[in-house]
Amino acid sequence: MKSPLQRRFFEQILVMLGREPKKPAEVTPAAQKIHVFKRGNRDFIAEKKHARAHAVPSHRWRTRRWATLIFANLLFTFSYLLDIQVLEGSLTASRFIGFHLIDLNAALQVMLAHKHIIVNLLIGTGTVMLLWLLLGGRSFCSWVCPYHLLAEWAEKLHLWLVKRKLVADQPMDRRLRSVFWVVFALLALATGYTVYEAISPTGIVSRALIYGPGLALLWVLALLFFEVFFTRRAWCRYACPIGLTYGFVGIFSPLRVKYTLQDCFHEGDCRKVCLVPHVLDTVLKGRAVDTEVPLGPDCTRCGLCVDVCPTGSLKFDVKGLSKLL
Ligand code: SF4
Ligand code: SF4
Repeated sequence: MKSPLQRRFFEQILVMLGREPKKPAEVTPAAQKIHVFKRGNRDFIAEKKHARAHAVPSHRWRTRRWATLIFANLLFTFSYLLDIQVLEGSLTASRFIGFHLIDLNAALQVMLAHKHIIVNLLIGTGTVMLLWLLLGGRSFCSWVCPYHLLAEWAEKLHLWLVKRKLVADQPMDRRLRSVFWVVFALLALATGYTVYEAISPTGIVSRALIYGPGLALLWVLALLFFEVFFTRRAWCRYACPIGLTYGFVGIFSPLRVKYTLQDCFHEGDCRKVCLVPHVLDTVLKGRAVDTEVPLGPDCTRCGLCVDVCPTGSLKFDVKGLSKLL
C-alpha cells in the first residue's frame, strides 16, 4: 500500500499536467496531531500572525538567482563578442568549453521534425538532462531562462496595477500548457519544422542578447504586454512547453523545496509570490500529508517562497543530504 507521501508524489505529476490539487484522502498520524493542535489553538496562531507583521522580508535567494541568470546569459554574449569560446551558441544549442549542450525541448522538436533519433543530439541532451536532473528540472526556468526575468519584472508591474484596481488578473485553465505541449510536438511532426523554436521567447531573448535585437522581439514585447494588462505570468503558467519538459526532468531531482508543517501558520504569503501556487497547496490548513512535505516537480526552485516565509517553514533541501547541510 502507498504511504500518503508516495500518493502525493504521483498526484503532483497530474497537478503539473493541469489537474487541480485535491484534499488528501489520508495523512500520517504525526501530521494529523499537528493539524488537530492548530485547530484547537487559534489564539496561538493569531499571535504568530501578529508577530509576522514585524518580520523583515528577505531577498536572499532572489538576489542569488538574478545574479546567476544574468551571469549565465552574459557569458554567452561576451563569449561571442570577445570570441573567447567559453560558451558558444545560445540557450537552444551551445558548447561549453567543448561540451555540447542542447536544450531538451529543442532536441525533442528537432527529432520529431526529422522523424528519427539523432545520435549527436542525444549526446548533447544527455549532459543537459543530467545537469537539470541534479539541479531540479524547472530550476532552468527561474535560474537561467532570460524570459523569466523579464516576465518577473512585468509581473511586478501587473501586480502594482491590480492593487490600484487599474487592471484585473484573468487566470486561465492550467491544462492549456499540456495541450500546447502536444500541439507543438504534433506541429513539428507534421510540418518537419521546429515551429515552437520560431516563437519561443526563451530562444528569441537569448539570441537577441548575443547577436543583437531583431524583429522577433516584437513578439516578446506583445507577450509581456499581455502579461502586464491581462493575465499574470501567462506564458510560463499556461503555454510554455519548455517549462513542462523540464518539469518532467525534475520529478526525481534530489534538489527541492521542503515544507515543514510544525511552524507554519498558514497565512499564505508564499502562495502570493509563487509562479506555480498549485505546488504550495500543502501549506493550506489541514492539507499537509506529513510533517515534512517536498514540493512537486512544477516548482521552479526560485526561492521566492523561502525568502518570504516568516517562520522558515519552506527551505531548500537535498534529498538524503539535508541532515548533513
Ligand atoms: S516556462 Fe518557458 S519561458 Fe517561462 S521561464 Fe520556463 S522556459 Fe522560460
Ligand atoms: S514553490 Fe517556492 S520555490 Fe517553488 S516556484 Fe513557488 S515560490 Fe518558487
